[in-house]
Amino acid sequence: MSDKLIDSFGRVHNNLRISVTDRCNIRCFYCMPAENVEFMNRADLLSFEEIERFVRIVAPLGVNKLRLTGGEPLVRRDLHQLIEKLVCIDGISDVGLTTNGILFGEQAQQLFDAGLSRVNISLDALDADRFKEITRREGYEKVVESIHIAKEVGFDPVKVNAVSIRGMTEDQIVPFGQFARDTGVDVRFIEFMPLDADNAWERDKVLFASEIVECLTREIMPLVPLGEHDPSAPATDFQFEDGVGQVGFIASVSQPFCSNCNRFRITADGKLRNCLFSLEETDLKSMLRDGAEDSSIVDAVRTSITAKKEGHEINTAKFIQPDRPMYSIGG
Ligand code: SAM
Ligand code: SF4
Repeated sequence: MSDKLIDSFGRVHNNLRISVTDRCNIRCFYCMPAENVEFMNRADLLSFEEIERFVRIVAPLGVNKLRLTGGEPLVRRDLHQLIEKLVCIDGISDVGLTTNGILFGEQAQQLFDAGLSRVNISLDALDADRFKEITRREGYEKVVESIHIAKEVGFDPVKVNAVSIRGMTEDQIVPFGQFARDTGVDVRFIEFMPLDADNAWERDKVLFASEIVECLTREIMPLVPLGEHDPSAPATDFQFEDGVGQVGFIASVSQPFCSNCNRFRITADGKLRNCLFSLEETDLKSMLRDGAEDSSIVDAVRTSITAKKEGHEINTAKFIQPDRPMYSIGG
């Protein structure tokens, strides 16, 4: 039998997303409640040693790509120390970070030196007032500064994640297209998904990738697909026709990419999830803390991957939004 983590639809899972905290220093409306967030107890968060052990267990199963996320991963103290441990594990070829950018500028060099290979900085608007409306916090200037610092420090590529929300971000499309052209940063537009804490998602609030392509084509110039598309990559990448500026689209709602999904996740409190939209979890924290052998943990991971559903069903009447919102899962 192959050591690889292959589900019942033949999908090979080599990509693990690790949430290191559910805490966050801003409050994006599509992710967290505005007030009174109940965070996990600190004692329930996996320690860096527990995360490292888990990665050492799954790396021989073909897991080679990791991404640290949250909540806001940079509010977890000394994150660079975790990166230093993870990059040394045999088989791990790539460790990335998704961050809201508020604290990134001040930690960028330390993270780069620790071996972080990729960074995605989330920013939904190129406008301080709109930023505040979406995030319910200040910090726009810090995020923009962090994007520039990421380039200066040497991260390549630097990607910006922008959630697209109908009625709210249409007027940001062209500025983001120009920003990609002016800065060399890859801007990726993400369709708003039903993972918000307020359960206020509606299909009508999703600004579709096709509409953004049409707008950029009309207002700036046509886009051409960029090279061979990696089928397991959620984003479809394009370049402006003149070769200046890249944009990508994560069309999770209008063009689901479940059939090529290679990801699984561990929450900050040690629950294994085989899908962002999964309704079931495997309690790995108890196993890691109760003295389970590595082989039992491998069995639990295989069982979870085998049980993975074919797709997320957002576009069907059967869809059920998970109890955990995005900040608690780890996006
Ligand atoms: N705090 C970090 C950040 O914002 O980059 C990392 C965690 S955040 C949950 C990861 C990504 O998920 C961000 O790019 C964020 O914009 C995106 N996200 C959160 N909720 C979302 C939703 N309901 N639909 C689409 N994307 C969402
Ligand atoms: Fe925080 Fe990221 Fe969620 Fe925004 S998307 S509230 S930055 S965890």
